[in-house]
Amino acid sequence: MHAVRRTLAAAPLLLSFAVAALPARGEDAPSAPAEKETKSEAAPKEASRAKVKLPDGRVCREQSPQPFLIRGNWFPKTKDPEKLKEARKMLEDAIRYRTEKYGYFEGFGSPKLNPKAPKDYAKSTTFMGLTVRVHEKIIPALKCVEAALKSSPAGEEYKPKTIGGIRFKNTYRGVEVSNHVYGIAIDIEPDRNTCCGCVAPWNEHPLCKQKGKTVWERMAMPRSWVETFERFGFYWLGHDVLQDTMHFEFLGDPDKILEEPEQ
Ligand SMILES: [Zn+2]
Repeated sequence: MHAVRRTLAAAPLLLSFAVAALPARGEDAPSAPAEKETKSEAAPKEASRAKVKLPDGRVCREQSPQPFLIRGNWFPKTKDPEKLKEARKMLEDAIRYRTEKYGYFEGFGSPKLNPKAPKDYAKSTTFMGLTVRVHEKIIPALKCVEAALKSSPAGEEYKPKTIGGIRFKNTYRGVEVSNHVYGIAIDIEPDRNTCCGCVAPWNEHPLCKQKGKTVWERMAMPRSWVETFERFGFYWLGHDVLQDTMHFEFLGDPDKILEEPEQ
């Protein structure tokens, strides 16, 4: 889908074709190119908060998403060739990084960087009472979010009934590859937290028809959940032009999820 951005002249035709041809997935494609947020809004406030601990006593480290992994930064709204080049390099770096850390997904990057596939690292875990299959490296990050939710009123504010994790097909088109295939993205209750910038049926959800509402008001999940995820390296795709409110992806450093045990 995002290949249309490479050839601007053909964009309207390709866009309408691609939108019509796309399957109905949660994060497939924006209905139109638009302004995107380009940096993370998640600023850890470690000093002002008590540390979150896992039930086994390990201490969670707070971190922000890494900017070069944020999709909004790969498609800047500019014609400046230097900026476009920079953005393209960022996307290439992001593919390389994810391949090294999470596995090689066919068609993206090189298997020389990691001969294993993300599915080789996939494990089932639980999150707020729901079972989800994700990359084993991000399970501690999910557990940190869970521990933080449970130790605050946020844990009682919202009780999702469904959750999705790793997928084995890329739901993006073109140059982009979904973080679901790396097992580092989850979707929380898609039928109640929709994607108003995606293709139908997601953008036809009654929540998307409520004009004048903010993205926060067009989902069932409370803001407290988004803020809790953001403390531990997750990026919320509600910030993106897609407004994919169900979707969180771990864009922190998987080697820095927990604090080192004291010697
Ligand atoms: Zn998703």
